Amino acid sequence: MSSKSEKQKILVTSALPYANGSLHVGQLAGAYLPADLFVRYHHRVGSDVVFICGSDEHGVAITLAADARQTTPQAIVDSFHPQLKATFDRAAFTLDYYGRTSSPEHHKTAQAFFKVLHDGGWLVTRTEEQFYDEKADRWLPDRYVEGICPHCEHPDARGDECEKCGTWIEAKTLGEPRSKLTGNTPILKETTHWYFKLSEIAPELEGLVLAQDAAVG
Ligand SMILES: [Zn+2]
Repeated sequence: MSSKSEKQKILVTSALPYANGSLHVGQLAGAYLPADLFVRYHHRVGSDVVFICGSDEHGVAITLAADARQTTPQAIVDSFHPQLKATFDRAAFTLDYYGRTSSPEHHKTAQAFFKVLHDGGWLVTRTEEQFYDEKADRWLPDRYVEGICPHCEHPDARGDECEKCGTWIEAKTLGEPRSKLTGNTPILKETTHWYFKLSEIAPELEGLVLAQDAAVG
């Protein structure tokens, strides 16, 4: 542990909740309360600690909610972000900052991180096949494709998992795939994705975790 003269700086964050619905008690207790307890402890012992979090306003969860309510992703996040923030305030969590991933500050910071990783050669691109709905003119993330489960033959399995047998699925393995947007049969098209070379720094990260464990223990 650090000496009192040079305080260890501690940054705490929790999984960002998607701005696509209200928080329930299980989420508050499971994902945010442990972080809040940790932060309260560090406030009490005089640590230099900052607790940040925010609404995740990008991703499939948002577009699915927008499609289900027949509105736009922007309308969904604009309605749920203030609600999430109010819930954290009412629960008296000790957050120093609660932002949103659509803010200009977040875009700027995320782009700066991306640029550092890109310039440093930490990213690799891979071309893969993904389902595409020609009628809707949209790429289909896994959850937008349904079909027959390759394991139990459940006819309404999702492209990421089968709710009947609980098996994780790769969308391409579904039988008779159909688009959740139009019901049409989607086609497979090539698309490029960026991946972070996590394996190259895995030993270093493991070392940090073990050192932290030893310090706490
Ligand atoms: Zn199944």
